[in-house]
Amino acid sequence: MTPDPDDAGPLMTPGTPPPAGPLDAAASWLGVEHGDPFGIHTLPYGSFTTPDAPGARVGVAIGEHILDLTAAADALLPEHAGLFTAGSLDRLLAAGPTVWSQVRSQVRRWLVDGRYRRAVEPLLLPAATATPRLPFTVADYVDFYASEQHATNLGRILRPDGDPLTPNWKHLPIGYHGRSGTVVVSGTPVVRPRGQLRAPDGEITFAPTARLDLEAEVGFVVGTPSRPGRPVPLAAAERHVFGACLVNDWSARDIQAWEYVPLGPFLGKAFATSVSAWVVPLDALRHARVPAPPRDPPPLPHLDDTGAPPGGFDIELAISLNGHPVSRPPFAGMYWTLAQQLAHLTAGGAPLRTGDLLASGTVSGPTRAQYGSLVELTWNGTQPLALPDGSARTFLKDGDEIVITATAPGPHATVIGLGEVRARILPP
Ligand code: MN
Repeated sequence: MTPDPDDAGPLMTPGTPPPAGPLDAAASWLGVEHGDPFGIHTLPYGSFTTPDAPGARVGVAIGEHILDLTAAADALLPEHAGLFTAGSLDRLLAAGPTVWSQVRSQVRRWLVDGRYRRAVEPLLLPAATATPRLPFTVADYVDFYASEQHATNLGRILRPDGDPLTPNWKHLPIGYHGRSGTVVVSGTPVVRPRGQLRAPDGEITFAPTARLDLEAEVGFVVGTPSRPGRPVPLAAAERHVFGACLVNDWSARDIQAWEYVPLGPFLGKAFATSVSAWVVPLDALRHARVPAPPRDPPPLPHLDDTGAPPGGFDIELAISLNGHPVSRPPFAGMYWTLAQQLAHLTAGGAPLRTGDLLASGTVSGPTRAQYGSLVELTWNGTQPLALPDGSARTFLKDGDEIVITATAPGPHATVIGLGEVRARILPP
């Protein structure tokens, strides 16, 4: 096996002038500049169609282009060609970590080795000509609640007279099962939902939500399934995870507030959940690993990651509303890690299925400029958010467009991008 040139040198520290890594120079014929979030170290997978060929295809994004893997596989990857003929990531996800690594290495080799240029060039298409599809069939969808700052903010808003964190919060990663059938790909409009609302005077009505909110989250996509009754220990968790995407967990706060007692979120979060079009392999995020914050009290043994490799990810999200930046939530501060969430999810015997989507929960940092939802940014609507165009928001209006992007550090001072999750609100 050829050694990966990424492993040759030490990591660059932030602020160091960016030297071109050995692979960056080789990819220059693609027009990919150093610092492009979809550079040679990212190589995310997605599913797309083009106007001239309506069948779904799998692609890898590189700069402003997409490498058509469905078309490429017969010639360039014959042993794995069948993984891409269906046009979704489902078969690749199910193939497991050895194949993920083989395919990623091979794709990188095509893009950086000049001997493949003549074969690869006809398989590249401008990303702007492609229409994204939901990249994989979502099996079970779970949304966690792993940001201590977000949980604290929500506790202060919803239960001002009690402790902001519930007694269970630091003992287990709280989550709920969502509705996988309403997960949609970036670009899909979101229709303002109707639901039961309770007015301050106690009147119950059925009406469009007046408190439509966003939640900026990171999602992890399960590839390798696990068996029923066989919990996945912390150390094995990441062998089951293919990669990461961005999630906007749309929330109707008024519907949610009336319905959630005592069983938790239901229709207020089930009308739409948006995901980014590109899934970034976990391998692309290995230079972004950071330790999770200290845990107090220590979790029970099956969730205790003391002494384990760093479980967090230094991913910085950015939220914009109608083009105006409103927040930059830091994922690095999340209290519960991906491995702990997988270990907890399977602890009672539930199996993982290929295509399971694990969302992190709203990502919020300690300052207002780092809050990941409008209910926090406007403190439940009491402090409207002023936008540079002179307007203000408490919650979302029809026509508003939310875009969430994210980046993480890569090798050689490069940038790993998670793409974007974008959607506009349509009237009911
Ligand atoms: Mn959420």
